[in-house]
Amino acid sequence: MKKKPLQPVKPVGLELIFLYPCPFCAHQVPTLSPTQPTEIQCEACAAQFSILPVDEKSVVYIKTMLANGASAVDPAFL
Ligand SMILES: [Zn+2]
Repeated sequence: MKKKPLQPVKPVGLELIFLYPCPFCAHQVPTLSPTQPTEIQCEACAAQFSILPVDEKSVVYIKTMLANGASAVDPAFL
């Protein structure tokens, strides 16, 4: 039998999801911080297209600014 945790759990990490509009159907395809040029597949129309990568420094900046999610917790719940 597993013990129940006493407190609600805080986040210890976060990831950024970028939305790339499909050039064929305009559906916004969620993509997890693509730091390399790559091709993604539209989940609506199944077309593939190339995307511009994001700068890893920007992703690290957001993660650092939010203390990997810990400082984003709603203060009303702390
Ligand atoms: Zn599409």
